[in-house]
Amino acid sequence: MGDEKFSTSPGSEALLPTGAVLVVGGGIGGIQSSLDLAESGFKVYLVERNLSIGGTMAQLDKTFPTNDCAMCILSPKLVDAGRHRNIQILPLSTVESVEGEAGNFRVTVRKKPRYVDIEKCTRCGDCTKVCPVELPNEYEQGLVQRRAIYPLFAQSMPSAYGIDKGGDPSLPGHLSDRYKCSGVYRPRISGQIQGSPGPG
Ligand code: SF4
Repeated sequence: MGDEKFSTSPGSEALLPTGAVLVVGGGIGGIQSSLDLAESGFKVYLVERNLSIGGTMAQLDKTFPTNDCAMCILSPKLVDAGRHRNIQILPLSTVESVEGEAGNFRVTVRKKPRYVDIEKCTRCGDCTKVCPVELPNEYEQGLVQRRAIYPLFAQSMPSAYGIDKGGDPSLPGHLSDRYKCSGVYRPRISGQIQGSPGPG
């Protein structure tokens, strides 16, 4: 296949790369696909069920067969995807339904609350020092515990922390009298969450 040429001259609009693409899964395959599509001029929505993109590769030390450092390959791509103007990462999200046909899909995405404002979280880590709730650390395959408020891993993208309620409806209220971070949505006395769960 030869090189495709795009022109802005009148009458050639049909050749311009337009539209939006949904990529499901923020592992290394989804990240690279999103970067390639975004560089081609498409708006990309990258759906990821976890707090952060990265997938299984983020858990690996080395890659086969070259024995390269997995995170050395992955982390620049995490940053590129997080900063790319054509990529919108949708963490904590799953696809509910897909309607339409090739070229004209309508996708419904369900997004779980993060309880932390990704614009305000600076990753200072103060919340984890006072959070009393411990849950199995899935990033470490359950071998160690983590706090209910946590980052998925050190280089996560989006970098903001999130709260895993772990089935406990009192969260994130358990943090409300322990520290004063404006990035975390806390319950009012009535038990309602202040504001929306926010972006991210
Ligand atoms: S949620 Fe607040 S306290 Fe926790 S890391 Fe983010 S900025 Fe720091």
